[in-house]
Amino acid sequence: MRFTPITAGSSGSTGTGPFGRLVLRGVTVVDGTGGPPYGPADVVIERDRIAAIVSAGRNTDMSQLGLRTGTADEVLDLPGYYVLPGLVDAHAHIGWAEQGPDADYIYRLWLGHGITSVREPGSLGNGLGFTVREAERAERGEITAPRIVPYVAFGSGTSEPIRTEREARAWVAEQAENGARGIKFFGAAPELFAAALEEANTLGLGSACHHAQSDAARANASHTARWGLGSIEHGYGLPEAMFTDRRIQHFPGDYNYNDEHDRFAYLGRLWREAAEPGSRVWEETIEELVSLGTAIDPTLVVYVAARDAARARGREYHRDYSAPQSWKFFQPDPESHGSFFFDWGTEEEVAWRENYRLWMAFVRDFHLRGGLLTTGSDAGFIYNLYGFGLIEELELLREAGLHPLEIIRCATANGARLLGLTDTGTIEPGKIADLLVCAENPLTNLKLLYGHGHLRVGANGAERVGGVTHTIAGGVLHDASALRARVRDQVAAERERLGTGVPSTP
Ligand SMILES: [Zn+2]
Repeated sequence: MRFTPITAGSSGSTGTGPFGRLVLRGVTVVDGTGGPPYGPADVVIERDRIAAIVSAGRNTDMSQLGLRTGTADEVLDLPGYYVLPGLVDAHAHIGWAEQGPDADYIYRLWLGHGITSVREPGSLGNGLGFTVREAERAERGEITAPRIVPYVAFGSGTSEPIRTEREARAWVAEQAENGARGIKFFGAAPELFAAALEEANTLGLGSACHHAQSDAARANASHTARWGLGSIEHGYGLPEAMFTDRRIQHFPGDYNYNDEHDRFAYLGRLWREAAEPGSRVWEETIEELVSLGTAIDPTLVVYVAARDAARARGREYHRDYSAPQSWKFFQPDPESHGSFFFDWGTEEEVAWRENYRLWMAFVRDFHLRGGLLTTGSDAGFIYNLYGFGLIEELELLREAGLHPLEIIRCATANGARLLGLTDTGTIEPGKIADLLVCAENPLTNLKLLYGHGHLRVGANGAERVGGVTHTIAGGVLHDASALRARVRDQVAAERERLGTGVPSTP
């Protein structure tokens, strides 16, 4: 299938600021370093930076706090609210036209969930030029979008295939000139892969690899980590690095990688072919990845439909937020990547549940041994929508056994480190003001970060609570609820225009 580039973000930011001095008054701070929450505090932002955090005793009255903070151009009174660093989606495609109505739709869903930085892993459908231009427009405040870090898929943009190490190095250098901040690999001949990685590291570019099963037999995650890979995307390549009684996955003889049912059904049987949790090979593999500094960006969320397809199809947010293009793209279709639900049954789902148990154990152990674990959503595929997907990724890390404070650190400070954004990722004086505000405490319930909120039954019956209220990106203040309302309006208008109804499944 050939993809059509999506319409770029429309000019003009709906955010306000940056301000000479903006104060978030009386908030509780979760700073992203891993430190526990504290408050009440005034977070003082000057232009695009956090200037100070004035905190007080638990029972200090707000006027006292205000006296210590001083005057400001803009004050948001937020007693009881929680402030976290803006989230980083380290695997965030700006989808192509087949996946959404336009880039604004995607950007609003990101900012509407407190996502202030994304890594575009490959610029696949829209091309590197598009992503670089959007990144520059976002940086200049010309569009309403988070910070975008453009990666480019290895070998793309050339008519001739890369055949030699020299060509691989030259290609990487050219991408750096064109504005790429990193290279996304799916696999390549080992000598070309290693040469390209070496060149990327020399030039200070990042690198990420989805170890496609078609190439994992000659370069698994341990090999590429030794060659200097920045991050391992998804889970592929890791089990292959831990085979003890085989060198290649035991695919059935009639397996066909281009048949997406085969591809995903046997991916669901991959982890059980590898060394067991806690075994020597398991521990040594983790130890080596940690010592090499290779990050893992698991994107657990994009595969969960494989362990419970009906749940993924029925996610509550589809009703108001899935644009008709996105919804159509999710439907079973041999031409759409990740739309493999042709005959997905109990056997496939049960295999995937076991696959997840092992994969999550690996993710947790990697984290416990000090590995750089990040959060990415790969939204736009497999019933997994922009913004929402990253929050679900946080919930899946909770299921893997991480504490909410550890998860928030993965989603903020760790992500910023992976993306090379060392001035962001935590709430500390001097850092760029990339923040999200939530009316309730997401550490007690991560669902409070979902754009469609969390269903709670109180004295007045069932109601929706939560949702990010404000997103501050580089000191620019965005009304996150208003951005989500615009998305709902846009989705309704698109359905009207295209004559499609609310998502439903056959
Ligand atoms: Zn992806």
